Amino acid sequence: MTKILEKITVLALIGSSLLLAKPNVSILATGGTIAGAGDSAIKSSYSAGAVTVDKLLAAVPSINDLANIKGEQISNIGSQEMTNEVWLKLAKRVNVLLKKDDVDAIIVTHGTDTMEATSYFLNLTVKSDKPIVFVGAMRSGSSMSADGPMNLYNAVSVATNKDTVGKGVVVVMNDEIHSSREVTKTNTASVDTFKSVNTGKIGTVYYGNVHYYMNPVRKHTSASEFDIEKIDSLPRVDILYAHANDSDIFVNAAVKAGAKGIIHAGMGNGNLFPSTQEALGKAIKNGVVVARTSRVGSGRTNLGGEVDDEKYGFIATDNLNAQKARILLMLGLTKTQDKKALQDMYFKY
Ligand code: GLU
Repeated sequence: MTKILEKITVLALIGSSLLLAKPNVSILATGGTIAGAGDSAIKSSYSAGAVTVDKLLAAVPSINDLANIKGEQISNIGSQEMTNEVWLKLAKRVNVLLKKDDVDAIIVTHGTDTMEATSYFLNLTVKSDKPIVFVGAMRSGSSMSADGPMNLYNAVSVATNKDTVGKGVVVVMNDEIHSSREVTKTNTASVDTFKSVNTGKIGTVYYGNVHYYMNPVRKHTSASEFDIEKIDSLPRVDILYAHANDSDIFVNAAVKAGAKGIIHAGMGNGNLFPSTQEALGKAIKNGVVVARTSRVGSGRTNLGGEVDDEKYGFIATDNLNAQKARILLMLGLTKTQDKKALQDMYFKY
Protein backbone atom coordinates (compact mmCIF):
# COMPACT_ATOMS: atom_id res chain seq x y z
CA MET A 1 0.00 0.00 0.00
CA THR A 2 2.80 2.42 1.02
CA LYS A 3 4.60 1.52 -2.24
CA ILE A 4 1.51 2.40 -4.29
CA LEU A 5 1.18 5.73 -2.44
CA GLU A 6 4.87 6.46 -3.07
CA LYS A 7 4.40 5.72 -6.80
CA ILE A 8 1.34 7.97 -6.98
CA THR A 9 3.27 10.80 -5.26
CA VAL A 10 6.18 10.44 -7.72
CA LEU A 11 3.80 10.44 -10.70
CA ALA A 12 1.99 13.49 -9.33
CA LEU A 13 5.30 15.31 -8.90
CA ILE A 14 6.38 14.48 -12.47
CA GLY A 15 2.96 15.56 -13.74
CA SER A 16 3.00 18.89 -11.94
CA SER A 17 6.57 19.65 -13.01
CA LEU A 18 5.54 18.92 -16.62
CA LEU A 19 2.57 21.25 -16.22
CA LEU A 20 4.83 23.91 -14.75
CA ALA A 21 7.49 23.52 -17.46
CA LYS A 22 7.86 26.89 -19.13
CA PRO A 23 9.03 27.36 -22.73
CA ASN A 24 12.62 28.44 -23.32
CA VAL A 25 12.96 31.74 -25.14
CA SER A 26 16.22 33.31 -26.29
CA ILE A 27 16.21 37.08 -26.58
CA LEU A 28 18.79 38.49 -28.96
CA ALA A 29 19.37 42.19 -28.45
CA THR A 30 20.59 44.40 -31.28
CA GLY A 31 20.00 47.90 -29.82
CA GLY A 32 17.50 50.62 -30.72
CA THR A 33 15.20 52.77 -28.64
CA ILE A 34 13.96 49.80 -26.61
CA ALA A 35 17.54 49.76 -25.28
CA GLY A 36 17.72 53.56 -25.27
CA ALA A 37 18.19 55.98 -22.40
CA GLY A 38 17.80 59.74 -22.10
CA ASP A 39 18.26 62.41 -19.42
CA SER A 40 14.63 63.42 -19.14
CA ALA A 41 11.22 61.72 -19.00
CA ILE A 42 9.65 64.51 -21.05
CA LYS A 43 12.23 65.18 -23.76
CA SER A 44 12.61 63.34 -27.05
CA SER A 45 16.43 63.30 -27.03
CA TYR A 46 18.10 60.01 -26.08
CA SER A 47 20.79 57.59 -27.24
CA ALA A 48 19.64 54.37 -28.91
CA GLY A 49 21.42 51.18 -27.83
CA ALA A 50 22.65 52.50 -24.46
CA VAL A 51 21.21 49.70 -22.31
CA THR A 52 22.52 46.11 -22.31
CA VAL A 53 20.29 43.07 -22.74
CA ASP A 54 20.48 42.12 -19.02
CA LYS A 55 19.24 45.55 -17.93
CA LEU A 56 16.56 45.50 -20.61
CA LEU A 57 15.19 42.17 -19.37
CA ALA A 58 15.49 43.12 -15.68
CA ALA A 59 13.15 46.05 -16.36
CA VAL A 60 10.28 43.65 -17.21
CA PRO A 61 10.43 40.90 -14.53
CA SER A 62 6.95 39.58 -15.40
CA ILE A 63 8.31 38.00 -18.61
CA ASN A 64 9.92 35.37 -16.35
CA ASP A 65 6.42 34.12 -15.46
CA LEU A 66 5.85 33.32 -19.14
CA ALA A 67 9.12 31.66 -20.12
CA ASN A 68 12.65 30.74 -19.15
CA ILE A 69 14.47 33.67 -20.69
CA LYS A 70 18.07 33.78 -21.86
CA GLY A 71 19.51 37.07 -23.16
CA GLU A 72 22.29 37.52 -25.71
CA GLN A 73 23.81 40.70 -27.13
CA ILE A 74 24.30 40.60 -30.92
CA SER A 75 24.99 44.32 -31.37
CA ASN A 76 24.04 47.53 -29.57
CA ILE A 77 23.36 50.06 -32.30
CA GLY A 78 20.69 52.44 -33.51
CA SER A 79 19.11 50.44 -36.31
CA GLN A 80 19.99 53.15 -38.86
CA GLU A 81 23.52 51.72 -38.46
CA MET A 82 22.40 48.22 -39.52
CA THR A 83 24.62 46.41 -42.03
CA ASN A 84 24.49 43.27 -44.18
CA GLU A 85 27.16 41.82 -41.89
CA VAL A 86 24.98 42.16 -38.77
CA TRP A 87 22.06 40.62 -40.69
CA LEU A 88 24.18 37.60 -41.62
CA LYS A 89 25.52 37.25 -38.07
CA LEU A 90 22.03 37.48 -36.58
CA ALA A 91 20.41 35.06 -39.03
CA LYS A 92 23.20 32.50 -38.57
CA ARG A 93 22.90 32.73 -34.77
CA VAL A 94 19.11 32.31 -34.92
CA ASN A 95 19.55 29.23 -37.12
CA VAL A 96 22.00 27.71 -34.62
CA LEU A 97 19.73 28.42 -31.63
CA LEU A 98 16.54 27.16 -33.22
CA LYS A 99 18.15 23.83 -34.10
CA LYS A 100 18.49 23.15 -30.36
CA ASP A 101 15.73 21.16 -28.62
CA ASP A 102 15.94 23.41 -25.58
CA VAL A 103 15.18 26.63 -27.53
CA ASP A 104 11.47 27.03 -28.30
CA ALA A 105 11.37 30.56 -29.69
CA ILE A 106 13.48 33.62 -30.50
CA ILE A 107 12.83 37.28 -29.78
CA VAL A 108 14.96 39.96 -31.44
CA THR A 109 14.94 43.41 -29.84
CA HIS A 110 15.67 45.99 -32.53
CA GLY A 111 15.51 49.67 -33.39
CA THR A 112 12.37 50.61 -35.25
CA ASP A 113 14.04 52.41 -38.20
CA THR A 114 15.08 49.23 -40.03
CA MET A 115 13.07 46.61 -38.14
CA GLU A 116 10.96 45.96 -41.25
CA ALA A 117 14.11 45.09 -43.20
CA THR A 118 15.95 42.92 -40.65
CA SER A 119 12.80 40.96 -39.84
CA TYR A 120 12.16 40.31 -43.56
CA PHE A 121 15.80 39.23 -44.02
CA LEU A 122 15.33 36.62 -41.29
CA ASN A 123 11.94 35.64 -42.75
CA LEU A 124 13.82 34.55 -45.88
CA THR A 125 16.94 33.04 -44.28
CA VAL A 126 15.97 31.25 -41.05
CA LYS A 127 15.17 27.57 -41.50
CA SER A 128 12.69 26.86 -38.73
CA ASP A 129 8.95 26.90 -38.00
CA LYS A 130 9.54 27.94 -34.38
CA PRO A 131 8.31 31.44 -33.43
CA ILE A 132 10.62 34.38 -34.25
CA VAL A 133 9.37 37.71 -32.95
CA PHE A 134 10.81 41.19 -33.48
CA VAL A 135 10.07 43.91 -30.95
CA GLY A 136 11.17 47.48 -30.27
CA ALA A 137 9.96 50.73 -28.81
CA MET A 138 9.25 54.25 -29.95
CA ARG A 139 9.94 55.79 -26.54
CA SER A 140 13.13 55.08 -24.60
CA GLY A 141 13.04 53.40 -21.17
CA SER A 142 13.57 56.75 -19.43
CA SER A 143 10.57 58.37 -21.17
CA MET A 144 7.21 58.95 -19.53
CA SER A 145 4.84 56.18 -20.81
CA ALA A 146 7.68 54.16 -22.29
CA ASP A 147 6.18 51.57 -24.65
CA GLY A 148 9.10 49.11 -24.53
CA PRO A 149 8.13 47.14 -21.39
CA MET A 150 4.58 46.29 -22.58
CA ASN A 151 5.87 45.60 -26.11
CA LEU A 152 8.44 43.17 -24.66
CA TYR A 153 5.84 41.46 -22.44
CA ASN A 154 3.57 41.10 -25.47
CA ALA A 155 6.46 39.80 -27.60
CA VAL A 156 7.16 37.01 -25.08
CA SER A 157 3.43 36.19 -25.04
CA VAL A 158 3.40 35.94 -28.85
CA ALA A 159 6.66 33.93 -28.93
CA THR A 160 5.25 31.38 -26.47
CA ASN A 161 1.86 31.07 -28.18
CA LYS A 162 1.41 27.82 -30.17
CA ASP A 163 -0.39 29.66 -32.98
CA THR A 164 2.78 31.63 -33.78
CA VAL A 165 4.44 28.38 -34.97
CA GLY A 166 4.78 28.43 -38.77
CA LYS A 167 3.86 32.09 -39.21
CA GLY A 168 7.35 33.15 -40.30
CA VAL A 169 9.03 36.11 -38.66
CA VAL A 170 6.53 38.47 -37.02
CA VAL A 171 6.79 41.99 -35.61
CA VAL A 172 5.03 42.88 -32.34
CA MET A 173 4.52 46.58 -31.62
CA ASN A 174 1.74 48.60 -29.98
CA ASP A 175 -0.57 45.60 -29.32
CA GLU A 176 -0.41 44.44 -32.97
CA ILE A 177 1.15 41.42 -34.67
CA HIS A 178 2.40 41.92 -38.23
CA SER A 179 3.99 39.63 -40.79
CA SER A 180 7.56 40.79 -41.48
CA ARG A 181 6.87 40.71 -45.24
CA GLU A 182 4.09 43.23 -44.96
CA VAL A 183 5.00 45.56 -42.14
CA THR A 184 6.53 49.00 -42.53
CA LYS A 185 7.23 52.01 -40.31
CA THR A 186 4.68 54.63 -41.37
CA ASN A 187 5.16 57.45 -38.86
CA THR A 188 8.43 59.00 -37.70
CA ALA A 189 7.46 59.38 -34.04
CA SER A 190 4.07 57.88 -33.13
CA VAL A 191 3.87 54.66 -31.09
CA ASP A 192 1.20 53.60 -33.62
CA THR A 193 3.72 53.53 -36.47
CA PHE A 194 3.96 49.90 -37.66
CA LYS A 195 1.37 49.08 -40.31
CA SER A 196 0.92 46.38 -42.94
CA VAL A 197 -0.30 48.84 -45.52
CA ASN A 198 -1.27 46.36 -48.25
CA THR A 199 -2.78 43.55 -46.20
CA GLY A 200 -3.36 44.58 -42.58
CA LYS A 201 -2.08 43.09 -39.33
CA ILE A 202 -2.32 39.33 -38.82
CA GLY A 203 -3.23 39.47 -35.14
CA THR A 204 -3.46 41.39 -31.90
CA VAL A 205 -1.89 41.00 -28.48
CA TYR A 206 -3.51 42.77 -25.58
CA TYR A 207 -1.86 42.50 -22.13
CA GLY A 208 -0.38 39.21 -23.33
CA ASN A 209 -3.60 37.80 -24.84
CA VAL A 210 -2.85 36.69 -28.39
CA HIS A 211 -5.43 36.47 -31.18
CA TYR A 212 -4.65 35.69 -34.82
CA TYR A 213 -6.93 36.51 -37.74
CA MET A 214 -4.78 35.77 -40.83
CA ASN A 215 -1.87 33.66 -42.06
CA PRO A 216 0.98 34.94 -44.26
CA VAL A 217 0.75 33.05 -47.57
CA ARG A 218 4.05 33.97 -49.29
CA LYS A 219 7.01 31.58 -48.89
CA HIS A 220 9.14 32.06 -45.78
CA THR A 221 11.55 30.39 -43.30
CA SER A 222 11.44 26.57 -43.76
CA ALA A 223 9.99 26.91 -47.29
CA SER A 224 12.56 29.51 -48.39
CA GLU A 225 15.27 28.49 -50.90
CA PHE A 226 17.84 30.98 -49.59
CA ASP A 227 20.74 29.51 -47.63
CA ILE A 228 23.18 31.92 -45.99
CA GLU A 229 25.17 29.37 -43.97
CA LYS A 230 28.20 29.52 -46.31
CA ILE A 231 27.80 33.18 -47.28
CA ASP A 232 29.91 35.94 -45.69
CA SER A 233 28.81 38.87 -47.82
CA LEU A 234 25.88 39.85 -50.02
CA PRO A 235 25.94 41.29 -53.54
CA ARG A 236 25.73 45.08 -53.67
CA VAL A 237 22.19 46.31 -54.39
CA ASP A 238 21.47 50.06 -54.26
CA ILE A 239 18.16 51.89 -54.00
CA LEU A 240 17.48 54.97 -56.15
CA TYR A 241 14.58 57.29 -55.31
CA ALA A 242 12.86 58.91 -58.30
CA HIS A 243 11.63 62.51 -58.52
CA ALA A 244 10.57 65.17 -61.02
CA ASN A 245 13.60 66.57 -62.90
CA ASP A 246 15.56 63.38 -62.06
CA SER A 247 18.77 62.48 -63.97
CA ASP A 248 21.17 59.64 -64.77
CA ILE A 249 23.75 60.76 -62.18
CA PHE A 250 22.95 58.28 -59.41
CA VAL A 251 22.41 55.37 -61.81
CA ASN A 252 25.90 55.92 -63.21
CA ALA A 253 27.35 56.31 -59.69
CA ALA A 254 25.75 53.04 -58.54
CA VAL A 255 27.07 51.16 -61.58
CA LYS A 256 30.54 52.66 -61.06
CA ALA A 257 30.47 51.63 -57.40
CA GLY A 258 29.92 48.02 -58.50
CA ALA A 259 26.19 47.53 -57.93
CA LYS A 260 25.03 44.10 -59.09
CA GLY A 261 21.43 45.19 -58.70
CA ILE A 262 19.47 48.43 -58.51
CA ILE A 263 16.06 48.93 -56.95
CA HIS A 264 14.39 51.92 -58.55
CA ALA A 265 11.72 53.45 -56.28
CA GLY A 266 9.76 55.04 -59.08
CA MET A 267 6.96 57.54 -59.25
CA GLY A 268 3.39 56.18 -59.17
CA ASN A 269 3.29 52.64 -60.58
CA GLY A 270 7.10 52.52 -60.65
CA ASN A 271 7.53 55.10 -63.41
CA LEU A 272 10.88 56.61 -64.35
CA PHE A 273 12.20 59.96 -65.51
CA PRO A 274 13.34 59.54 -69.19
CA SER A 275 17.11 60.01 -68.69
CA THR A 276 17.05 57.73 -65.61
CA GLN A 277 15.19 55.10 -67.64
CA GLU A 278 17.75 55.22 -70.47
CA ALA A 279 20.68 54.99 -68.00
CA LEU A 280 19.06 52.00 -66.27
CA GLY A 281 18.46 50.33 -69.64
CA LYS A 282 22.18 50.74 -70.38
CA ALA A 283 23.09 49.34 -66.94
CA ILE A 284 20.95 46.26 -67.69
CA LYS A 285 22.83 45.74 -70.98
CA ASN A 286 26.03 45.78 -68.90
CA GLY A 287 24.76 42.99 -66.60
CA VAL A 288 23.13 44.90 -63.72
CA VAL A 289 19.70 43.64 -62.61
CA VAL A 290 17.19 46.47 -62.26
CA ALA A 291 13.91 46.03 -60.37
CA ARG A 292 11.13 48.59 -60.43
CA THR A 293 9.28 49.40 -57.24
CA SER A 294 7.36 52.50 -56.16
CA ARG A 295 8.00 55.39 -53.82
CA VAL A 296 4.21 55.63 -53.18
CA GLY A 297 4.24 53.41 -50.09
CA SER A 298 1.44 50.99 -50.92
CA GLY A 299 0.15 48.95 -53.84
CA ARG A 300 1.67 46.72 -56.49
CA THR A 301 4.22 47.79 -59.08
CA ASN A 302 2.86 46.09 -62.19
CA LEU A 303 4.77 44.77 -65.17
CA GLY A 304 4.00 46.36 -68.52
CA GLY A 305 2.03 49.42 -67.45
CA GLU A 306 3.45 52.70 -68.75
CA VAL A 307 6.94 51.21 -68.81
CA ASP A 308 8.06 48.88 -71.59
CA ASP A 309 9.63 46.29 -69.27
CA GLU A 310 10.36 43.88 -72.10
CA LYS A 311 12.29 46.45 -74.13
CA TYR A 312 14.41 47.64 -71.20
CA GLY A 313 14.68 44.33 -69.29
CA PHE A 314 13.26 45.59 -66.00
CA ILE A 315 11.70 43.28 -63.46
CA ALA A 316 8.93 44.40 -61.06
CA THR A 317 8.79 43.89 -57.31
CA ASP A 318 5.10 43.03 -56.77
CA ASN A 319 4.00 44.97 -53.67
CA LEU A 320 7.30 44.96 -51.77
CA ASN A 321 8.60 48.39 -50.79
CA ALA A 322 12.10 49.36 -51.88
CA GLN A 323 13.88 48.30 -48.68
CA LYS A 324 12.31 44.82 -48.77
CA ALA A 325 12.74 44.53 -52.57
CA ARG A 326 16.47 45.18 -52.03
CA ILE A 327 16.72 42.26 -49.59
CA LEU A 328 14.99 39.84 -51.96
CA LEU A 329 17.23 40.91 -54.85
CA MET A 330 20.42 40.55 -52.77
CA LEU A 331 19.38 37.03 -51.76
CA GLY A 332 18.13 36.21 -55.26
CA LEU A 333 21.48 37.24 -56.74
CA THR A 334 23.25 34.74 -54.45
CA LYS A 335 21.44 32.03 -56.45
CA THR A 336 20.99 33.29 -60.01
CA GLN A 337 21.44 36.15 -62.47
CA ASP A 338 18.55 34.92 -64.58
CA LYS A 339 15.96 37.68 -64.87
CA LYS A 340 12.99 35.36 -65.25
CA ALA A 341 13.98 33.38 -62.15
CA LEU A 342 14.49 36.62 -60.19
CA GLN A 343 11.11 37.93 -61.39
CA ASP A 344 9.47 34.70 -60.22
CA MET A 345 10.94 35.20 -56.75
CA TYR A 346 9.01 38.48 -56.43
CA PHE A 347 5.79 36.53 -57.06
CA LYS A 348 6.66 33.80 -54.54
CA TYR A 349 8.21 35.56 -51.52
N1 GLU B 1 16.98 55.34 -34.77
C1 GLU B 1 16.64 54.45 -33.71
C2 GLU B 1 16.68 53.01 -34.15
O1 GLU B 1 16.10 52.62 -35.13
C3 GLU B 1 15.39 54.88 -33.13
C4 GLU B 1 14.22 54.18 -33.54
C5 GLU B 1 13.67 53.27 -32.50
O2 GLU B 1 14.24 52.30 -32.06
O3 GLU B 1 12.56 53.61 -32.16
O4 GLU B 1 17.37 52.23 -33.51
